[in-house]
Amino acid sequence: MEFLHIDKSMEELRESFKSRRTRSVAWRKSQLKGLLRLLEEKEEEIFRALQEDIGKPRVEAYRDEVAVIKKSLDLSLACLEEWMASKKVRVPIIAFPTSGEVVPEPLGVVLIISSWNCPFGLSLDPLVGAIAAGNAAVVKPSELAPASSAFMANNLPNYLDNKAVKVIQGGVSVTEQLLDKKWDKILFTGSARVGRIVMTAAAKHLTPVILELGGKCPAIYDTLSSSMDTRVAMNRIALGKWGLCSGQICIGIDYLLVEERNASSLVNLLKDQIKKSYGDNPREISMTRIINKHHFQRLRSILKDPKVAASVVHGGSMDEDNLFIEPTILMNPPLDSDIMTEEIFGPLLPIITLEKIEDSIEFISSRPQPLAIYVFTKNETLKKRVISETSSGSVTFNDCIIQYVLDTLPFGGVGQSGFGKYHGKFSFDAFSHEKAVLRRSFITEFSFGYPPWNDYKLRFIRAAFSFDYIALFLLFVGLKRS
Ligand code: NAD
Repeated sequence: MEFLHIDKSMEELRESFKSRRTRSVAWRKSQLKGLLRLLEEKEEEIFRALQEDIGKPRVEAYRDEVAVIKKSLDLSLACLEEWMASKKVRVPIIAFPTSGEVVPEPLGVVLIISSWNCPFGLSLDPLVGAIAAGNAAVVKPSELAPASSAFMANNLPNYLDNKAVKVIQGGVSVTEQLLDKKWDKILFTGSARVGRIVMTAAAKHLTPVILELGGKCPAIYDTLSSSMDTRVAMNRIALGKWGLCSGQICIGIDYLLVEERNASSLVNLLKDQIKKSYGDNPREISMTRIINKHHFQRLRSILKDPKVAASVVHGGSMDEDNLFIEPTILMNPPLDSDIMTEEIFGPLLPIITLEKIEDSIEFISSRPQPLAIYVFTKNETLKKRVISETSSGSVTFNDCIIQYVLDTLPFGGVGQSGFGKYHGKFSFDAFSHEKAVLRRSFITEFSFGYPPWNDYKLRFIRAAFSFDYIALFLLFVGLKRS
């Protein structure tokens, strides 16, 4: 039954793309405006769905989901014609008379598979790019956020062209059926484990993929001499660990690196910060809850390891009925324990001490490339070394997460944290093919380009490819004479 539904949807999507209507500026703008209207008219329902799925506070729901998508929509609407325009390129004189341009064209029918932690943002933000680029699209939200998924399936058809943009709900078996089909691009947000499944399925059809994965994002905390800077750093570190989805976020801080001599004062500062943000009583803390029992138990079992449990220096209390885990700090848990080898994706913060802060570079570069690195420092040499000696999707100095909302920066990973990028104009590019167009005239024609071959023609071609215009001229004169 589900199979027939997917087949019928695919047929409709292909027909819509073939009809060429998704290519017009008018269609793209009407869809983007439709999405904007949906966000404006249904904001309260979106908040409710996020509350139901994951207990997301309204501020986080607005900031991390609604505002992020609206910002992309506003930018796409403002820049659409400019992005769609072909771009002239310079062509070398040897090709004279010739003109060249790059023409963006939509890819076709694309698939967006998303995760549960930002179910709207991670489904609809990529969709903005897919629509802006003129594609038909399917969004497959995570089954672990069922209220958000159902909201999108029920509401998108009322605001968008339902024959060209569809939401298909379901879990593993539906995703497997979708992956069996031929797509023109797949943007997947989720774990590396499922990323491999997606890429394997895509390979069968030679479908290009963008994998937005996760990993362990480190933060480096260097000595900050001013108390004002330290206060600001604590606000930002606490937000980067606990202030988005209770740490269930791909670009959240996974662990913190600090010099031994600063470790105990850092713990005290963080404890104060937790108290300031969430109060004294863990039972009254208002935070996004852990998504489900499975993930709650996963996090609990990380802490059950006796050596890890012994390293807890703050927090650690849990409430399974309410899927709540208190902001928790650990000091030097074993580096071979799950907490330091697996992505944490929860409110646990291991602090690892180093003799010198410069050792953090080796610590990070000897592990898989993370999606983000955060460095709190005023040391310019350290900044330069982090940029040049480590590899990651992004590096942010003296703040966390903020890079996610800057449209001028590409968002994506490298190595184990994924590949491909989107956000801002990069989203448009992610779902476009940049077609090379070259226009030649019939005016000039040189015989050196055609057989029969001889040494003279070889010298001519050699000079042409090395742009040696003097040699070319001399050869040209010689060729004319011969
Ligand atoms: P997940 O990989 O379990 O699921 C992601 C999607 O894949 C869901 O839509 C799910 O239905 C589907 N899926 C699950 N198992 C599948 C299977 N066997 N075959 C086909 N499809 C399958 O990830 P998750 O738990 O939803 O999200 C957490 C992970 O996502 C973390 O690793 C996190 O770092 C990463 N993440 C990355 C970003 C980013 O932008 N880079 C954003 C959010 C989350």
